[in-house]
Amino acid sequence: MATACACCAVWALDPAPALAQSPEVQRHLALAREAAGTDLLSYFGLSQIAAPTPGLRRVSPDELMRMPTPPPGQAFDNLFFVGNRWVSAWAVVTSDGIILIDAMDNDDEAEHIIDAGMRKLGLDPKSIKMVVVTHGHGDHYGGVGYLKRKYNPQIIASTLDWTMMETALEFDRPDWGRPPQRDVAVDDGSVLRLGDTSIDVLLTPGHTMGTISLLFNARSGGATHRVMLWGGTAFNFGRRADRLTRIDAYIAATDRAREIAVRQNVDVFISNHNIYDQAVEKLETMARGGPNPFVLGSATTARALTVMNECAKATRVVWSS
Ligand SMILES: [Zn+2]
Repeated sequence: MATACACCAVWALDPAPALAQSPEVQRHLALAREAAGTDLLSYFGLSQIAAPTPGLRRVSPDELMRMPTPPPGQAFDNLFFVGNRWVSAWAVVTSDGIILIDAMDNDDEAEHIIDAGMRKLGLDPKSIKMVVVTHGHGDHYGGVGYLKRKYNPQIIASTLDWTMMETALEFDRPDWGRPPQRDVAVDDGSVLRLGDTSIDVLLTPGHTMGTISLLFNARSGGATHRVMLWGGTAFNFGRRADRLTRIDAYIAATDRAREIAVRQNVDVFISNHNIYDQAVEKLETMARGGPNPFVLGSATTARALTVMNECAKATRVVWSS
């Protein structure tokens, strides 16, 4: 059974159990499993398309959306989480306003989770100057309309995904807001600058062909950390004709991102879905004191990208057979 109705599902079941036993699939999954260790199993969920675990039930986006909204939280001096259990938005605070990364599903969430959450954290939503849409699926752009009407920020997305949002949405749901009007287009190597902060844009195609991931600095306890926010994790291609192109792009993107992560000593790896980065659980841990659980170290960042990469390679084998 293929499920592709929701954009960012942990996995879209499209199993080929016989192929899952092939030595090549097993080799990639063993590498993914080894890289996942005990701390990155959330990313190993991506293995389920290539080799579904019997009896394992996927938690649906609807179930995650219905769960109680977790409290907003502060991960770093200049980085704040607002979101529900399904999808996250991140606020980067600069000396000249706020860059918001993603806008959740719809106006209601933008108002009651993003806007209200920021106020609870002592942030002024009026100072949102930019909203970055990591990719053209409605759970990331759906709340842009509310934010645009209320605060008139620049809306930023990749050239490719602006075109996708204008011409041919890959997914849609009635509870997602409508796509925003094209505003600022960025591409690989673009730099977003606001006040004292710059955010490097990395095109990481696969999840959509215009998915962007972001690199920036976060401060905590007098130390500066390098953050990579991954813009699109799931292999949600169903039986699309171009799914091999997509998975090849994903494999190349995770290879390249891993090299960059090592070169730039990226020690914080976060997501726009907290099922992956466990942001909600980490914020709960932070409230109890101790070292910042968002600081993983660059080796762990590289391992996360290896898990994603090897699960993609295993999936490619299944799909191409
Ligand atoms: Zn998506």
